[in-house]
Amino acid sequence: MKKELKLLAQLQDADLEIEELETERKEAFGNSPLTHLKKEHGALKSKLEKLKQEVTKLSLAYKKAEGELELLEQKIAGEQERLYSGTILNPKELKAINDEIASLEKLKEKREEKFLEVDIMLEELNETVALTEKAIKKKEMEIDEEEKRLKEIEERISSQVEKLREKTKKLREEIPSELLKIYDSRRLKLSRRVVASLVDGVCSGCQMEVHAEELDKILNNPDKLAICPNCQRLLLVLES
Ligand SMILES: [Zn+2]
Repeated sequence: MKKELKLLAQLQDADLEIEELETERKEAFGNSPLTHLKKEHGALKSKLEKLKQEVTKLSLAYKKAEGELELLEQKIAGEQERLYSGTILNPKELKAINDEIASLEKLKEKREEKFLEVDIMLEELNETVALTEKAIKKKEMEIDEEEKRLKEIEERISSQVEKLREKTKKLREEIPSELLKIYDSRRLKLSRRVVASLVDGVCSGCQMEVHAEELDKILNNPDKLAICPNCQRLLLVLES
C-alpha cells in the first residue's frame, strides 16, 4: 500500500501544481492592463480623428482669410494707382479716393488680425496633433509589450501544464483504479489535498495526533489503506 500511496502522493503533487499554474494564468490575464490600454488607445485615436477634422476646417478658414487679405491689397493698390495716375484732378473726387483707401486700410488691419488669429490657432492645433500622435505610438508600444508578456506567460504555463498532464497520465496508469476512485472523489470533497503523511503519529493534513489505539492498527496493518480519523485524508506512513 505504501508504494501505491507514494505514487498517489506524486499524482497529488502534480495535480496541485497544475492547479497553481492555472490560477497563475488566470490571474496574469485577469490583472493584465491590456484591456485598459486598448481602451485608452481607442480614445486617443478618436481624439486624433477629431483634431484632424478641426485642422481641415481651420486650414480652409486660413486660406479664406489669406484670399480676403490678398483681395483687399489688390483693391488698395488699384485705388492708389487711380489716385496717382494724374487723370483725376477734381479735389472732391480725389478726397473720395483717399477716404476709400483709408477705409480699405482699416478693413485690412482687421482682416490681418483675424488672419493672425487663425494662424496661431492652426499652429497650436498642429502641435496638439503631433503630441497626440506621439501618445498613440507610446500606447501602441505599451500594448505590444503587454501582449508579448502575456504570450510568454501563456507559452510557459502551457508547456509546463502539458508536461505535468503527461506525468499524471503515466502515474494514473500505475495506480490501482480503486485507489484512484477514492482519490478523485475525495479531491472534490476535501479541499485540494487528499493524501497526507503520517509522521510520529501526526497527520500532516490536519496536524492532529492520531489516537494511540488507531495508530497501532495503522502501523500493524501496512497493507490496509490508512485514513486519518480526523480529516479523512489517506495516510502515507513515513518513518520518523
Ligand atoms: Zn488528518
